Amino acid sequence: MEHCDVAIIGGGMVGALAAALLAPSGLSIRVIEARAPAAFEPGQEFDLRVSAISAASVRLLQQAGAWDAIVAMRAWPYRALEASEWQGFGTRFEARELDCDHLGFMVENRVIQLGLWQALAQWRNVVLDCPNGLAGLAPTPTGTELALDNGQRLQARLVLACDGAESRTRQFAGIGVTAWDYAQHCMLISIEGDALEAETTWQQFCPSGPRAFLPLGQRHGSLVWYDQKVRIRELAALDRMALAQQVAVHFPARLGAFRVLEKGHFPLRRRHANQYLKGAVVLLGDAAHTINPLAGQGVNLGFKDVACLSELMHQAVEGGQDIASAELLERYQCRRRPDNLLMQGAMDLFYQAFSNDLLPLKLLRNLGLKAAQNSGPLKNQVMKYAMGL
Ligand SMILES: Cc1cc2nc3c(=O)[nH]c(=O)nc-3n(C[C@H](O)[C@H](O)[C@H](O)COP(=O)(O)OP(=O)(O)OC[C@H]3O[C@@H](n4cnc5c(N)ncnc54)[C@H](O)[C@@H]3O)c2cc1C
Repeated sequence: MEHCDVAIIGGGMVGALAAALLAPSGLSIRVIEARAPAAFEPGQEFDLRVSAISAASVRLLQQAGAWDAIVAMRAWPYRALEASEWQGFGTRFEARELDCDHLGFMVENRVIQLGLWQALAQWRNVVLDCPNGLAGLAPTPTGTELALDNGQRLQARLVLACDGAESRTRQFAGIGVTAWDYAQHCMLISIEGDALEAETTWQQFCPSGPRAFLPLGQRHGSLVWYDQKVRIRELAALDRMALAQQVAVHFPARLGAFRVLEKGHFPLRRRHANQYLKGAVVLLGDAAHTINPLAGQGVNLGFKDVACLSELMHQAVEGGQDIASAELLERYQCRRRPDNLLMQGAMDLFYQAFSNDLLPLKLLRNLGLKAAQNSGPLKNQVMKYAMGL
C-alpha cells in the first residue's frame, strides 16, 4: 500500500490549482486524474469550454506559478462588461472606472489546466497519476484508504474531491446533494469574424434566456445561447450555416458578420452538496456546487474554495498541527458554504427575474438595469465583488 498526505481526486482546473497552492507546504500530494488534456498547439481551433476568469482568480494562478504559461498559450483580457434588455436601459461596467487595466480574462478551460500541470511538474512532492481514477474509498483510523482503477491501493491523510459535478468521490463518501434542473439549457458556439468586439463582453437578456458574447482576441469569440431545452435541441440539430442564420436573427446586430466554427450544448443544473466534508474527505469546486453560468462565476468560486482550504492547511503545517483535524475542516466549510450559497441565490434571482415575459417585471428589470448604470459607487462595489477584489 502506498501513502501520501493529500490525495486529490480530479486534476481539472480546481484540483490542479489545489495541488499547486499546497505544493510549497512540502506535503506529499498525489493527483489522480482520469483524462490528460490534449496538448496545446499555437493556431489550433478554440475549445468550446471557455471561462471568464476574475482578477482574484488570476492572482491565485500567479501564486500557483501557472499564469505566465497560460498567457504564453492564450488568454484574452476584457475591459468592459454590458448587460441589457431594452435599448437605452443597459448597464455597462468599465475597468477604467475601477482604476484597473481589465475586468478579467477569457481563457479556455484546457489552457488553464495545462498551465497548472506545467507548474506542478517542478514539484518533487507532487505526483500526477494519469490516467487513473477512483474506484472506492473507506475511512481508516488515520485517514482514508483509496482503491484506484489500476488496482493500486493508497492510504491518504486527507482526500480532496475535485472531480467535478458528478463527483464519484462525493458519492463514495456518502454526501448527498440538493439539486434541480433549470428549464433553460445552453448552447456554446465558437465564431470567427472580422469586426468582433475584442475587449467587451456583453449579455442581452430575452424572455426565453440570455444571449452572450465572450471575446477571444481580435477575430474570435464564444457565443452563449440560453433557451428552452427543446429550442436548444432544435439548434443543435442544425448545420453550421443554418445555425449562423439563426444566430444572425436572434443575437444583437452588433455581432456583425461571422462564421460558426464549433458548437455544443449543455443542460444547466444547480447542485449544492449538503455538507462539504465527511471524515477526512473534503469537497471543492463543482464537486461541492454548480451554479447557473450566466455570470461566469463557477470556477471562480471553486478557486476561492481552494484558496481558503490551502490557507488553513498551510497554517496547520506551519503550526505542526493535523491537516485533517475536524476543527480545520469545519472552518473551511463554515467559510465557504455561505459564500457559495449567496452566489447561487444571486444567480437564481437573476435567472427568475429575467426569464419571463410579464410586462410589469420587464419594466422593473429594465429600470433596475438603468438604475444600476447610474448608481455610482454601488455599481463599482458590485463589480469589485464579482472580480473578487
Ligand atoms: C456552459 C458553461 C459555461 C461556464 N462558464 C464559466 C465562466 O465563464 N466562468 C466560470 O468561472 N465558470 C464557468 N463555468 C463553470 C466551470 O466550467 C466549472 O465551475 C469548472 O469547470 C469546475 O472545475 P472543476 O475542476 O471543479 O471540475 P471539472 O472541470 O469538471 O474537472 C473535474 C476533473 O476531474 C476528473 N475526474 C472526474 N471523475 C474522476 C474520477 N473518478 N477519477 C479521477 N478523475 C476524475 C475529470 O476528468 C476532470 O478533469 C461554466 C460552466 C458551464 C456548464
